[in-house]
This record gives sequence, C-alpha cells and structure tokens, in this order.
Amino acid sequence: MGSVSASTITTLSCDVLVVGAGPAGAVAARVLARQGAQVIMLDSLSSMRPKVGESLPGAIAPLLQAAGLHSWFAQSQPLPNPGNLASWGNAQLHATDAIRDPYGCGWHLDRARFEQCLQNAAREAGVSFLRAHLNTVTASEHGVEVQAGEATLHAKWIIDASGKARTVARQLGGIARRDPPLLALCAWYPDGYDDTRSIIEAAPSGWWYSAGLPERNRLFAFFTLPERAKTLLQQPTGFLDQLRTTRYIQRGLTGKHAVAHLPVQVVDAAGSHLVSVCGPRWVAAGDAALSFDPLSSQGLYNALYTGVRSAEAVSAVLQSGNQTLLAQYAERVAEIRYVYQSEVRHYYRQEQRWPDDPFWATHHR
Ligand SMILES: Cc1cc2nc3c(=O)[nH]c(=O)nc-3n(C[C@H](O)[C@H](O)[C@H](O)COP(=O)(O)OP(=O)(O)OC[C@H]3O[C@@H](n4cnc5c(N)ncnc54)[C@H](O)[C@@H]3O)c2cc1C
Repeated sequence: MGSVSASTITTLSCDVLVVGAGPAGAVAARVLARQGAQVIMLDSLSSMRPKVGESLPGAIAPLLQAAGLHSWFAQSQPLPNPGNLASWGNAQLHATDAIRDPYGCGWHLDRARFEQCLQNAAREAGVSFLRAHLNTVTASEHGVEVQAGEATLHAKWIIDASGKARTVARQLGGIARRDPPLLALCAWYPDGYDDTRSIIEAAPSGWWYSAGLPERNRLFAFFTLPERAKTLLQQPTGFLDQLRTTRYIQRGLTGKHAVAHLPVQVVDAAGSHLVSVCGPRWVAAGDAALSFDPLSSQGLYNALYTGVRSAEAVSAVLQSGNQTLLAQYAERVAEIRYVYQSEVRHYYRQEQRWPDDPFWATHHR
C-alpha cells in the first residue's frame, strides 16, 4: 500500500480503478478495499485553486458512521454550523435553527483538509494512490485499460469519480445532460466575523451565499448567469460593488483586512447528470453521476452516499457476478435526481420579485 508514481511504472493491475480522489472517489475506494478488493485510486490533483463546497448537513452522521469515517471526519476539524439564514421570496431574513434537526448541527469544512482526511482513510484501508492524469480508457468484456501519464493500468472495473469532467463515462459512451447555466463567483476572506451560520440572499440578477469557515475564514459566492458574471468581472471592483448592494450578506464584510483586491474564482455551478450512471465495466459516483445546483447544498452528501453505494454494487459484481445492487444503484440515483429537480424548481419559483430578470426567468422555467 502507498503511493506509486506514474513516471516510474509502466503497467499496473488491480480489481477496481477509482478515478478521482475527491469525496466520492476516496469513499468508494475505501469501501471496496475494506471488502477485500485490490484498489488503485488515481487523481491528477492538478488544480491549484481551492475547491468550493464546504457545507454538510448534520444528517451526514449515519453515513460517516457506516463507512467507519467518523474519526477521520473529526480529524478534519470541521466547524459546527448552528443554523441557516435565508432572505428569499421577500426582504426578511428567516432563521432555521439546527436545534430542530434530529441530527443536530451541520458542518462547515476546510475542504482541502476534509479531502486529505478521506484520502488518508482510503490509504489506511489498503488503497494505492497514483498521481496521474487519465488520458484514455477503453473497455472490453474482460475489463478496462487506462492510459494515465506514462502508465498503463488494467482493472476488472472502473469507478468514475472524476466530478463534472466525467472523464471515464464520456469515453465509454455515457451521455450527460446539463441544467440551466449557472456560474459562481467565489472569494475567500479572512474576516473574524463571529456569526458562522450559512446565509443565502436572493438578488435582482442571482443569489448570494456566505458562510463562516474554520480558522475564521469566510466564503462569499455570487451565483448568476455567465453574461452577468462577465460584466462584473470586467470591472476591477465589480464583485465587491455587487456584494455591497446586498442587505444581509455584506454584514460579513467586517475585519481589518482590505477587501478591494479579493481574488475572485469563477466556477461552473450548473447541475448536470448522466442519463445512465453505469455501463459495461464502469459506474459513476458523486458529481460524475449527478451534480446539483449548489442551492440544494446536496453535492457532498450525494458524493459520499453514491461513493458508498457504487462501491458496494461493484463489490457484489466482483464477488458473485450479481448485478442486482448495480441496477438498484442506478434506480436510486434516478429517484434522487427526480426529487432534486422538482425541489430546486419549486425553490426558485418561490422568489418572484424580479420575474423579468434573465436570471430568474431562466431558473423559473
Ligand atoms: C460554487 C459551488 C458551491 C458548492 N457548495 C456546496 C456546499 O456548500 N455543500 C455541498 O454539499 N456541495 C457543494 N457543492 C458541490 C460539491 O462541491 C460537489 O458535489 C463535490 O465536490 C463532488 O465531489 P466528487 O468527489 O464527486 O467530485 P470532485 O470533488 O470534483 O472530485 C473529482 C476529482 O477528480 C479528479 N479528476 C478529474 N478528471 C481527472 C482525470 N482526467 N485524471 C485524474 N483525475 C481527474 C479531480 O482532480 C478531482 O480531484 C458546491 C459546488 C459548487 C460549484
């Protein structure tokens, strides 16, 4: 067990190759290794940018417990989130207290630390890690062959946990569908503001999200259409000017740090899904299978859930050739997508103050 380098190795074999070491991939790899499979987890880890997605509901606890991840999660030192605030549909601010939640408080993560802990948990279970970029994948009735960097890998099965890139599924015939366009402009701010609750606020051309993070960092994110994002980014202080038009979100702009030069990161935030989440010798998990509009705050939960379920399904196929769990997994993801799409549509339609604005008109449809 340990890390292997693509530059020193030409051919590797395993039972299951997991592509992507994000939350879905790390959990899937761990579950498979704990069930006795030989697993290689592959990730290029090429992005130098911080990843977005840091809010988890309290309801994650049973899933963490079942995957033996509770202590690893605690090691990532998440910040308890005692509740959520929302200004949506009218100008008032509505509070939801976690005290009413049977699972207790939610969590705000240091995302890099969280992923590192999940990857360590996979390694502890016996997963080998290969840092390389997957270039090509082909499937036959015997398994899959992958070219990644200088290495060739052979596996009986492959799990696509490569996020929205869907780098495996796309090459093996998977078809993706996208929801309406949505970009997120994100900035991290070291602030010292004491109220760490999540807050969302609807605005004339999109919506804002902010949350206190570990180490007193704060995330500000504005979700809008690409055209509006482009206009804001063309102005040196466009993001901050827009932030200052908010009624509640701007309250997080306290502290002694200069805010005029906050670097703003642009992220594709539109939901999307695979029409079919599995095929011969492959299955998709996490965002690769189904990615959500961040309004739902469901992405990480889904990544962990589908990581576990897809791994259990592949394990059953490897052990006995039984494909029942795989078929149930595909049905379950389709159900989740159906419920999510009707809920997110319903939620957008609750905001009717700017019906003619292109953002709201697009998301009401
Ligand atoms: C703006 C924004 C805000 C969000 N906020 C929240 C939130 O508050 N709460 C929440 O639950 N969710 C949130 N999400 C969603 C959440 O971040 C995702 O659902 C989650 O990251 C999915 O995890 P994953 O493991 O499926 O994919 P990812 O985390 O995307 O991991 C995929 C991995 O695959 C690797 N990879 C890709 N292609 C290749 C290749 N060819 N070769 C090798 N490696 C490859 C990448 O390097 C990456 O590490 C948000 C998303 C956005 C865009």
